[in-house]
Amino acid sequence: MSRILVIGAGGVSRVAVHKCAQLPEVFSEIHLASRTPAKCQAIASEIRGRYGREIRIHTLDADDVRATTQLLREIQPALLLHLALPYQDLNLMEACLAAGVPYLDTANYEPPETARFEYRWQWAYHERFQKAGLMALLGSGFDPGVTSVFAMHALKHHFDEIHSIDIIDCNAGQHGLPFATNFNPEINLREVTAPGRWWKEGQWQETEPLSVQRSFDFPGGIGPKPLYLMYHEELESLAKFVPGVKELRFWMTFSESYLQHLKVLENVGLTRIDPIDFQGRSIVPLQFLKALLPKPESLAPRTIGQTCIGNLIRGRKDGQPRLYYIYNLCDHQAAFRETNSQAISYTTGVPAMIGAKQMLEGTWTGRGVFNIEQMDPDPFLADLSRHGLPWEEKLLDPATTPLIDPAAPPTPGADSP
Ligand code: NDP
Repeated sequence: MSRILVIGAGGVSRVAVHKCAQLPEVFSEIHLASRTPAKCQAIASEIRGRYGREIRIHTLDADDVRATTQLLREIQPALLLHLALPYQDLNLMEACLAAGVPYLDTANYEPPETARFEYRWQWAYHERFQKAGLMALLGSGFDPGVTSVFAMHALKHHFDEIHSIDIIDCNAGQHGLPFATNFNPEINLREVTAPGRWWKEGQWQETEPLSVQRSFDFPGGIGPKPLYLMYHEELESLAKFVPGVKELRFWMTFSESYLQHLKVLENVGLTRIDPIDFQGRSIVPLQFLKALLPKPESLAPRTIGQTCIGNLIRGRKDGQPRLYYIYNLCDHQAAFRETNSQAISYTTGVPAMIGAKQMLEGTWTGRGVFNIEQMDPDPFLADLSRHGLPWEEKLLDPATTPLIDPAAPPTPGADSP
């Protein structure tokens, strides 16, 4: 029986609050705080309508450490679930330390003025959380989050050594609009316009954004789709926590229409994050673009199809080479029926609830700042299946190359960029 405070009232928060409200025996009292009160009220009214539960709402600017500390002291939650934006990570960690409250998030810190997310700013808080006897859990979404837990499950149960991990993220959903992002457009576009980075033999390699392409035949009736190499934050924590791993890559699918629009928006400067002068006012072009684009939550009723996110892992077991695939399929319309959100928010909000559940039930404990790779994967994955995101795993023939290079005929080992 625990009181929690959720910060942020966007797509991910909506799902997490729905899922927490479904488990009153764990989340006995839910507080929701965000910048725009109407968004908190909308979620509270859905929760009242669906589950007959009252959640308490608060208006808060989470960048104001004093105001957040004061709210935490008033509420005294057993856990803060940070589901606002990565820009708030450090301020919320400061507030948690000041008020003595454990912390959980789904995305690592990114300074607003630089599109470069890294764990080092949050890892620097380890000793302070340790001294305060508090736990901070980083990256409890899907990617990062479940993808890292999948890797640790594979290491624990299916491999003696892991050589390479390819995280493959496919949104095969269709919303019928020429260009829209399925989560916060500013965060999404900063991510996809950044250089591609991957880990090889102990070093980071870099490429031009979206310049390396492969194809993968997805399960669940999705079929073959093109994939693009990107940098994603869990590559950094996997490089640290998967012993001896030689190669780590992250791939994402994009539609033809998305890529064409992105190219034009980049070419005309609308994805820039440096301020420009516009009619005597300073504006950030990407923030202006965000105001023009469809709100991600508006896509939920119209998105059909599935997401498929998983890991393709190579290594050895009992002296033999092994190729293993673990993944989840999530249906956009099923997510919408249950939580009024599409599958991108659903696949993030459910693991946020499940990470919180492990912390509140004492299955995952610790003093300091932890990545999800440091926790036992078993209870998390059992709960993941139980609470809406069942996963599947299979062994593939290690002589095959599932990531096909369209520019070269597939041969064993040809899936390296
Ligand atoms: P949204 O943009 O839909 O929601 C963000 C919410 O945070 C909004 O309610 C917003 O309020 C609020 N917010 C922003 N700034 C502040 C502030 N200073 N104080 C208080 N509230 C604030 O984003 P999503 O729900 O799509 O994403 C939420 C988080 O989840 C992000 O950090 C994102 O990076 C992460 N994410 C992680 C994924 C994973 O798999 N690990 C996948 C997808 C997302 P307002 O409405 O007033 O702007």
